Amino acid sequence: MSDTLNFNNTETAFASKSNMELKKAKFLFGVLGFGQLTKMAKPLLNFAFKSGLPIEGILKNTIFSQFCGGENLLECKAQIDQLYQNGTVMSILDYSVEGAENEASFDGTLETLLEICQFSEFQRQIPFLVFKPTGIGRLEIFRKVSENESLSFSEMEEWARIKKRFKTICKAVADTRTLKIMIDAEESWSHAAVDSLTEEMMVKHNKKRAVVFATVQLYLSNKYNYLERLKDLGRTHQIKVGVKLVRGAYMEKERDRALAKGYKSPVCEDKSITDQNFDNGVNYVLDNLDVFDLFLGTHNELSCKELVERLTDHKIDKSDNRIWFGQLYGMSDNISFNLAQAGYNVVKYVPFGPIKDVMPYLIRRAEENSSVGSQSSREMELLKKELQRRKEMSKMK
Ligand SMILES: Cc1cc2nc3c(=O)[nH]c(=O)nc-3n(C[C@H](O)[C@H](O)[C@H](O)COP(=O)(O)OP(=O)(O)OC[C@H]3O[C@@H](n4cnc5c(N)ncnc54)[C@H](O)[C@@H]3O)c2cc1C
Repeated sequence: MSDTLNFNNTETAFASKSNMELKKAKFLFGVLGFGQLTKMAKPLLNFAFKSGLPIEGILKNTIFSQFCGGENLLECKAQIDQLYQNGTVMSILDYSVEGAENEASFDGTLETLLEICQFSEFQRQIPFLVFKPTGIGRLEIFRKVSENESLSFSEMEEWARIKKRFKTICKAVADTRTLKIMIDAEESWSHAAVDSLTEEMMVKHNKKRAVVFATVQLYLSNKYNYLERLKDLGRTHQIKVGVKLVRGAYMEKERDRALAKGYKSPVCEDKSITDQNFDNGVNYVLDNLDVFDLFLGTHNELSCKELVERLTDHKIDKSDNRIWFGQLYGMSDNISFNLAQAGYNVVKYVPFGPIKDVMPYLIRRAEENSSVGSQSSREMELLKKELQRRKEMSKMK
């Protein structure tokens, strides 16, 4: 492994943060470490918004500023520039408004994506766009199409509008000749419909370069086979196949639905099997880099180190533009900044949107940080270490 790569280097990780910002982050991760508090937050916030309590200012200065770039593109610009100037960490603007299931909101998401595309086109620190399929259409329609259920006339029209939105944004990105686009993965019962659209877009736009990236959740035991199918698609159509590999974020939902409907959960039986499936997926993609471009979306330090080692074994240059590491804004800066400083391609998802509308996203982040307790405690450990280091440095001056 690279001698210069050390995920405990907090000086590099937090170079752009003031002492005040570090203390605030430490406080926040401390709070997120208390699962009970996070559970209470959801009903309390819903109540506060419904009653018109003035909590936006408090949220904006705490959880929002930790995990989001801003309320709009211009507000995000300062964070994006800071990530790039302080460590060549790049950004993906992630419009994180979730949950509104109506046509106006789906059209609004498409408009925002087209705006992001224009905004990002001439900024080298923003190489990708991203969207969630349920941002442009109802999950229920994706489910029905995936399960070959017949659609009513109005649902057929709805599905046609979803396809149009999907194709419009992919074409706009392809036309820039530089940007790429990732399709996030959500619940498994939406996958067949999303995958077939994604594959159609890859065949159309990925002839010269990987423009469209599919997301593969390797906590699903059948997804290794899907990578094999994607490789065949690439070979058959002579295209580049972009893949974002993640473990997967909908484990409870997947298991609950499987239990309720009486089928075997598609999620791997335990964490170690997910980890093995994830590693196998990464290795498979690296063994077939003539077809694949790889985006590794993880906060797992070992997975990142292993990819670094595999790249060395395969004699693949650190800055090879087929290989990307990705983390979320406000999390795992020790991975992002140390990888970028060592010369790897690193991108942060930078969520943004009006505070009230990104609350579902923020609550998911908070729940993830408290349920994956080790994530919060690792963040705390690093923040404490950096504050201590700075204290000692100032004593020596
Ligand atoms: C840049 C980026 C983009 C992402 N995009 C997506 C996306 O499009 N879709 C999506 O679903 N997720 C996405 N994620 C989230 C991702 O899937 C994981 O939920 C999250 O990153 C935690 O996994 P990890 O690899 O970072 O860390 P780890 O802490 O090593 O892994 C935690 C993950 O392991 C799995 N796991 C935990 N316990 C068990 C168990 N008992 N049995 C089986 N598996 C278990 C779960 O997937 C859990 O999230 C993204 C993450 C990042 C950083």
